[in-house]
Amino acid sequence: MWDRLLTDCHVATMEPAPGNPLGIIENGAIGIQDGRIVRVGTRTDLAGNRAREVLPLGGAWVTPGLIDCHTHLIFGGNRADEHAMRRAGASYQEIAEAGGGIASTVKRTREASEPELLASAAMRLDALMKGGVTTIEIKSGYGLDLEGELRLLRCAKALAASEAVRIVPTLLALHALPAEWKDRRIGYVSMVIDELLPAVADEQLAETVDAFCEDMAFSSDEVERLFKAAHARGFRVKLHAEQLSNQNGAALASKYNALSADHLEHLDEHGAAAMAEAGTVAVLLPGAFYALQEERKPPVQLLRDHKVPIAVATDCNPGTSPLLSPTLAMNMACTLFGLTPEEALAGMTINGAKALGIEEEIGTVAVGKAADLCVWRLESLAELGYWIGLPGPERRIYAGDDT
Ligand SMILES: [Zn+2]
Repeated sequence: MWDRLLTDCHVATMEPAPGNPLGIIENGAIGIQDGRIVRVGTRTDLAGNRAREVLPLGGAWVTPGLIDCHTHLIFGGNRADEHAMRRAGASYQEIAEAGGGIASTVKRTREASEPELLASAAMRLDALMKGGVTTIEIKSGYGLDLEGELRLLRCAKALAASEAVRIVPTLLALHALPAEWKDRRIGYVSMVIDELLPAVADEQLAETVDAFCEDMAFSSDEVERLFKAAHARGFRVKLHAEQLSNQNGAALASKYNALSADHLEHLDEHGAAAMAEAGTVAVLLPGAFYALQEERKPPVQLLRDHKVPIAVATDCNPGTSPLLSPTLAMNMACTLFGLTPEEALAGMTINGAKALGIEEEIGTVAVGKAADLCVWRLESLAELGYWIGLPGPERRIYAGDDT
């Protein structure tokens, strides 16, 4: 006897079959036991099975729960003032040079108490969860000193304990050079490598290390130093790459078998080929492109040509992507970047799981995986990338239970 049997629904399993890239099962059914999917097939296939709860869904669509694989969710304050500055014509770089940008969030984050950080992050998390998110990545990167970074990762752990969502923490080890290290770049990178990495490993606060490779952040040499040290300690890596300029970050990330390279507006063919070779996922972040009013789009066709898996995420952060809706991220990926609705859905399910290295656990509707599902009252799946401001799924099922 199963715990639940979802029936009378169409299932987008996201497990591709010949001629059926989304693995759609019309008139499908899903068996759930102990928080996991134990059977998926047509309604007829599952007709003889019994469950404590049989849930007819009246012809709704079921997809895997959405995966937001790139966020900076935990921070103090917000940057609505810079939004106004940008409308007055200031660039991201000019705002950063005037003491705004990441530095201002670092200040507000350091000033905030842990309960304050948790309360504001929980509000944003709640919005994303209502939008259908069942797994979210949360990066550190606004502490910029040993205790500050550890505190953010501990906050991520605390959120995971209190909310019905899977949280994947990432140590964003090189995000911005803090003011107090202004003339000691090498020393800062050494502190990160010699003190922060071991502390995060000892406390098991994250398994993946990230960095921001850009003129205004860290050079590819500095990132490579970090990646070498991270690999030596058993971390996996990912990288903010080619957002504002081409630093050959994607190729560097691929050299270290990165799970993902993210942003990629300035990616070139060499970088795309390297990503394909290493199996590195391209994470596209249309919220940042939109908020910064960038003009150069990521080379989607190049990624397709090289068969690089494409993920989509909100990049939820206070400065460059205050985006709180996964389905709006999907809409923007279609409207701004030219993804098909199918690609956008794959980008927030299976390819999001790959970008986090947990595709064995989540990302498709398949036997053995966690029963993280969204039930959508829509006529067609294409509507997921179509509506601007879709409120969210009718039901959000996390580990088998409605939440
Ligand atoms: Zn980011």
